[in-house]
Amino acid sequence: MKVLVVGGAGYIGSHMVQMLGHQGCSVTTLDDLSSGHRDAVLCGDFVQGNFGDRAVLDAVLSRGFHAAMHLASFIQVGESVQHPDKYYRNNVTYTLGLLDAMRAQGVGNFIFSSTAATFGEPQYTPMDERHPQQPINPYGRSKLMVEQALADYDRAYGFKSVCLRYFNAAGADPEARLGERHDPETHLIPLVLQAASGRRSGISVFGRDYDTPDGTCIRDYIHIQDLCAAHWLALQSLMKGDDSQSYNLGNGHGFSVQEVIDTAEQVTGRKIPVVNAPRRDGDPARLVADSRKARDQLGWQPQYADLATIIEHAWQWESRAG
Ligand code: UDP
Repeated sequence: MKVLVVGGAGYIGSHMVQMLGHQGCSVTTLDDLSSGHRDAVLCGDFVQGNFGDRAVLDAVLSRGFHAAMHLASFIQVGESVQHPDKYYRNNVTYTLGLLDAMRAQGVGNFIFSSTAATFGEPQYTPMDERHPQQPINPYGRSKLMVEQALADYDRAYGFKSVCLRYFNAAGADPEARLGERHDPETHLIPLVLQAASGRRSGISVFGRDYDTPDGTCIRDYIHIQDLCAAHWLALQSLMKGDDSQSYNLGNGHGFSVQEVIDTAEQVTGRKIPVVNAPRRDGDPARLVADSRKARDQLGWQPQYADLATIIEHAWQWESRAG
């Protein structure tokens, strides 16, 4: 199977490219390296270019693909509030351009990386696919707009897609060949581990006054390999001719920021200096996925659901990178 991975040099994309390669797919990565890393693309062909450029898209897509996966998004909530133009341009306008170019080349199977941020403030947890989608920031709105466009494209053009709504992607390749390398890093687990390794002086805990047992925010951390396995299953389902779908992806277990720090201290055997800081804008107290639909329909079975394992793999990567 020939698969195009847009954003294949990024954190999730690079793990995805590796998995597709192991599954015997012929993979092409399109990435402008604005935040990704060329040396993270371990399989297949690499094309450096921006997916907002129609000429670049036409040239790449003319190679012929059975499907495309789109993992080239801007993902920082705070930045999306400061610079919504950047988010709507990249995450919406450019993505619609990608869909146009795919349709022009007759590539009709699309895996879209969406997010729990399309739901907004939880009205109940764990959150299943029926939970109302009322995003509270431009990042979440940009992703929801594409989800809605995809539903319309299916009705009008028969364009098939699967939207995968990630909760908190974490961890690294168990062999430590790949891992999280954002710059600047904003995610909790890599920051905690950088504090453990001494690359950072400590970790700020954003809010201890939430309505949770220890007062810190609760998130559902899902191992990057499990996330990629869901993409692979979703791709196979589309190739079988199944209908377009959306799935929430998480382990169904929430861990607080403090629990993540405690577990990281156990895994690393290091003391992690902690500073209490104010709440971060736009952070709901608790985000936990109900992923039964993915389990039931795709046969998805997370292999690394344990938080200590997720942190252990991220620590192997941090130990290598640091
Ligand atoms: N967080 C924190 N300190 C940090 C980074 C994150 O306390 O330096 C908290 C953040 O407020 C949230 C959780 O850790 O409750 C996960 O944040 P992250 O940015 O990793 O993922 P998000 O939930 O925003 O997708």
